[in-house]
Amino acid sequence: MPLAQGELCSALGEEINMDFREIKCKACMAKSKLTDYVINPYTGCTHGCKYCYAVFIKRFQDIKAEWGNFVYAKINCPELLKTELEKSKPGHIWMSSVTDCYQLIEGKLFLTRKVLEIMANSPCKNKFTMEILTKSALVKRDFGLIKESNAELGMSVNTLNDKTARIIEPMASPPSERIKTLKEAKEEGIHVYGFISPVLPGITNLEEIFGALQFCEYVWVELLNMRKACLERLMPVIRKEFPDAVKSFDFAINHPEEYYNNVKKEVEMLSRKYNLRVQDIVRHDRK
Ligand code: SF4
Repeated sequence: MPLAQGELCSALGEEINMDFREIKCKACMAKSKLTDYVINPYTGCTHGCKYCYAVFIKRFQDIKAEWGNFVYAKINCPELLKTELEKSKPGHIWMSSVTDCYQLIEGKLFLTRKVLEIMANSPCKNKFTMEILTKSALVKRDFGLIKESNAELGMSVNTLNDKTARIIEPMASPPSERIKTLKEAKEEGIHVYGFISPVLPGITNLEEIFGALQFCEYVWVELLNMRKACLERLMPVIRKEFPDAVKSFDFAINHPEEYYNNVKKEVEMLSRKYNLRVQDIVRHDRK
């Protein structure tokens, strides 16, 4: 007998020894300082990126599990979105800001897909512009709905080296697959952009990435978030796996203004060289 959805979620979690649950949320669309609205159909993210700054969620929601080892699926998101689209003021929607809406579990739950179905079929969809940002080739499954929702698709990359990415972003699709997926999306007529994030000192090769993303309409560049909680997770991995990059990290951590200025200078040069528009360079404060 097929499992009910709640059972499927916990059965999956047991299978791979992770804390997977279904929860109900109060709202699907949330107002955001980053853009008008964000949609995060999941809390937590099994991609487990070592530099992830969404770890703050653990503190806010008093979650004890390690970042990367839990996912709470907000199963009522699609149902709530229907009326939210009617009631909300026009604006831009970003999916997703503190999770990856195409992480592992989405392959079984289809939650992001259901959100897109609501969006694509809503009489209010023209009130909104939308973008989807991911590191997963699973997004291919929903190209049709992404087009119907008039959404843009972005892929996040900080290295083209699949082995490096496996260490830093253990469960995300390899960068080679991400870029291939983005090219396929473009061929399907979807507007695509690159999200170069974060710029990892001594590891990220900006020139190589600009070259690979030349087919995109534009790119964002995001600097490393140097909050204590982020560095505490990231630096042991850098010291162990990338000892040659430690000096560059130390420089960036101790001289954030120079780190920014160096990246800015290089990005401006590469933008001209590759004729690729840079939307912005995103910086983070350390509070
Ligand atoms: S994909 Fe994004 S939200 Fe998920 S772990 Fe990586 S940085 Fe964090």
